[in-house]
Amino acid sequence: MPITTSLTLRGIPYTENEDTSAHVSMKAGGKAAVFITPRNLTELIHAYSASRMCGKIPIVLGNGTNTVFSDGGVVRPVVSTLGLANISVDGEYIAADCGAKLSAVAMAAANAGLTGLEFAHGIPGTVGGAVFMNAGAYGGEIKDVLESVTYFDGEIVTKPAGELYFGYRETTFSKGGQLILSAVFKLKKGNEAEIKAKMKELAAARREKQPLELPSAGSVFKRPVGSFAGKLIEDAGLKGLTVGGMQVSVKHAGFIVNIGGGTETDFENLVKEVQKRVKENSGVELTPEVRIIKD
Ligand SMILES: Cc1cc2nc3c(=O)[nH]c(=O)nc-3n(C[C@H](O)[C@H](O)[C@H](O)COP(=O)(O)OP(=O)(O)OC[C@H]3O[C@@H](n4cnc5c(N)ncnc54)[C@H](O)[C@@H]3O)c2cc1C
Repeated sequence: MPITTSLTLRGIPYTENEDTSAHVSMKAGGKAAVFITPRNLTELIHAYSASRMCGKIPIVLGNGTNTVFSDGGVVRPVVSTLGLANISVDGEYIAADCGAKLSAVAMAAANAGLTGLEFAHGIPGTVGGAVFMNAGAYGGEIKDVLESVTYFDGEIVTKPAGELYFGYRETTFSKGGQLILSAVFKLKKGNEAEIKAKMKELAAARREKQPLELPSAGSVFKRPVGSFAGKLIEDAGLKGLTVGGMQVSVKHAGFIVNIGGGTETDFENLVKEVQKRVKENSGVELTPEVRIIKD
């Protein structure tokens, strides 16, 4: 029985048998039984709670830049947040919906002469995904500029960031079960030209070091204590190691890139091979940061 038979979606747009590879930056993965695209807050909360009510914990998807779905597909409903993307600036505060791109929030901050989000400009995820992961780069982390988060957990709750847990790529939200709706960032007055120059400088550094020209999900592994995953992988001689259409990037060993026709299975097998060989070479166990969704 198609899952939508038991889901009451009240006119919220959805598709069945949606190809998830079109919605994730790795450009791999199978089909979603139902892929729901709410257009506003009411629809987002309804899609999420209706799925829960029929016994299926939904998969919330932002920009899909840290996620890949199983080649065999997923039966749980996928709820996309990209339809909710409002950003508003009020003094030194910026409020942004969960589906707003981090790059757009950072640019809104820059245009308002607010400093603090320069580090986030090149992270290709949404506000929801970035809060969920406590995304970070170049010495900055989302938690450093986060004032509060509004989320749905049976009811709508707003909590100051200080009352939530934010560790390294791990937060109160990482275990799942809450739907992040929006976030407020607290920034500082700065100089617009200097902020934009910093963003440009960081973008150039990314282009130079990262394989942005090929599909990927960014850094595959968390940074192990006292080292860098990319260095350990390179030291193990794994640059260019290929399984099917997935390859350890020759430009940055911390990335796995889809060189054409790569599948989620290829990705998973390559991740396991890298973990095994790095462990043999250096004794370090690498933990994946990319989320593989299987059911
Ligand atoms: C080229 C490239 C460079 C990258 N560079 C960086 C970097 O410098 N630093 C960094 O930290 N990351 C980086 N990433 C990884 C990624 O962009 C971040 O982890 C980002 O925060 C993920 O956001 P997303 O919207 O794409 O999340 P998704 O991949 O869509 O989702 C990630 C997780 O968050 C959950 N989620 C998303 N939205 C919500 C919500 N509203 N409510 C509840 N749960 C939600 C999902 O269920 C999933 O488990 C990079 C990725 C790429 C492809």
